Amino acid sequence: MAEHLASIFGTEKDRVNCPFYFKIGACRHGDRCSRLHNKPSASQTVLLTNMYRAEGAGGTVDPRDAASGKSASASAGQGHFEAFVEDLFEELDECGEIEGVNVCDNATDHMAGNVYVKFVDEDGARRALEKLQGRYYDGRPILVEYSPVTDFKESTCRQYEENSCTRGGYCNFMHLRPIGRSMRKQLYGRYLERRRRDDDERRDRRSRSPPRKRSRDDEDDGRVNAKGMSDDARRAMFAQWNEEGAD
Ligand SMILES: [Zn+2]
Ligand SMILES: [Zn+2]
Repeated sequence: MAEHLASIFGTEKDRVNCPFYFKIGACRHGDRCSRLHNKPSASQTVLLTNMYRAEGAGGTVDPRDAASGKSASASAGQGHFEAFVEDLFEELDECGEIEGVNVCDNATDHMAGNVYVKFVDEDGARRALEKLQGRYYDGRPILVEYSPVTDFKESTCRQYEENSCTRGGYCNFMHLRPIGRSMRKQLYGRYLERRRRDDDERRDRRSRSPPRKRSRDDEDDGRVNAKGMSDDARRAMFAQWNEEGAD
């Protein structure tokens, strides 16, 4: 019985729960949807609705490219995009360990630029939600909420990843912008580095020698800056996170 329910929950056969909200964490009908949007009271994932705009400070994404399903990595805005993801990491890393950042390249209003930040545990997501509530980014208020989506394999369009989705930007599955390998290594590598350091410190403490001090500068050693936007321009853009919330 339970298995039967599980196979129906959130699918087209489910007349009560909205399958789009269940899988994508967003539905084009929003609050007017005739089916239920079961909003979680806690989750590992926070959703920042419509937060990323490709046409921001970097290159623009040709809507014809988006409509034809062409991969975003092929467009000129990749540096701008990766700089955005890097800054998001810098902002939210202190809330907890980030398991993944997923950014939608879809064109529909309820999915365009949606940013899903999944933390290793719910505490991280809770701190991120508290931190971002009432803040502004790029001149617009940040819309942040817990998302029911924790398994992105289920909600991602496989054809898009293979560059063959014929529905383009209007696809109902997530078209997730790919993050380049070197940027991924830089972003997630910090956690490996931190774990290694914690292990070192534990070992040091055991041998009664004072733990080695490391400055923040050491951590940044060897990191590669995302191309496409100067550090000054990025700093200016992210300074808006707080300033615009002040008035
Ligand atoms: Zn719905
Ligand atoms: Zn698709």
